[in-house]
Amino acid sequence: MTLPRFAYFKGKIVPYQEAKVGVMTHALNYGTGVFGGLRGYWNADEEQLFVFRPLDHYRRLLNSAKLMCMETDFTPERLRDITLELLRAEGYREDCYIRPLLFKADEIIGVRLHDLTDELTMFAVPFTRYVEKEEAHVTISSWRRIDDNMIPARGKITGAYVNSALIKTDAVRAGFDEALVLTEEGHVSEGSAENIFMVRDGLLITPPVTENILEGITRRTILTLAREALGLEIVERPIDRTEVYLCDELFMTGTAAQVTAITRVDFRPVGTGKMGPITARLRALYDDVVRGKVAKYREWVEPVYVGQAESVAAD
Ligand code: PMP
Repeated sequence: MTLPRFAYFKGKIVPYQEAKVGVMTHALNYGTGVFGGLRGYWNADEEQLFVFRPLDHYRRLLNSAKLMCMETDFTPERLRDITLELLRAEGYREDCYIRPLLFKADEIIGVRLHDLTDELTMFAVPFTRYVEKEEAHVTISSWRRIDDNMIPARGKITGAYVNSALIKTDAVRAGFDEALVLTEEGHVSEGSAENIFMVRDGLLITPPVTENILEGITRRTILTLAREALGLEIVERPIDRTEVYLCDELFMTGTAAQVTAITRVDFRPVGTGKMGPITARLRALYDDVVRGKVAKYREWVEPVYVGQAESVAAD
């Protein structure tokens, strides 16, 4: 992967090579960080880079920080402005991925959340597809999803991603593209880094936020688009494992995965075994929306190369 040229580190934008932490850093030892993942989309017609729903991503990041007892003065607006400044420094004219990370920065021994110093870092890299295929073959993971009373899945907590990494690696090593993971109760929660949707008897069904999912920004976007643009009826309810074997369409959503069809689960075809019509429509619409091509949803995209952002370099 190409390394970025810059990073936000200790209050300013610095050459990427200068953004370094010591090996005793708390977050490195104990997984005490929270992070985000945003996308910048290049619109060639407008010669513009658009960041998708930055304020919503940063509200979620600050909620994750709250769960980890982090004290920070950052606001969603400030984090968005840092993002814009960083992207302008990089000058990307292609799709990219933005990674903000708030972490417990103290170089000390001691497992805890309180009385520690939190720092922000951020970088952005060029990025295209995450799940390589448009039509994915998934399995049901033998791992279970972390529970709200163990490590809250609604927080995007670095240490919690060991759960996702176990799920993903075992799926890929077994020859699948991804895995769906069940809650302790045996309901389908989500993928290793994607939310899950199923179409059954004309309804669009997705697990509610109480099913140990990350509250995805793409999930929220798809719920809005499905309701407003496609006029679909939506049900948020727990999904049983065998429903995903029987449903008409299945797809996963995420900033990285965007909208990816799941056409086989454990060697069973989903519906016709090809991407279904609702998935295809949502995929195409999502791609237009994130590139700022749909007027109605233009407020979700933030242009990078306009206006005068306040310099953050001197902070
Ligand atoms: N679930 C998990 C576990 C994730 O890591 C992600 C990626 N952030 C998602 C769902 C999708 O969330 P979003 O649409 O906000 O990227």
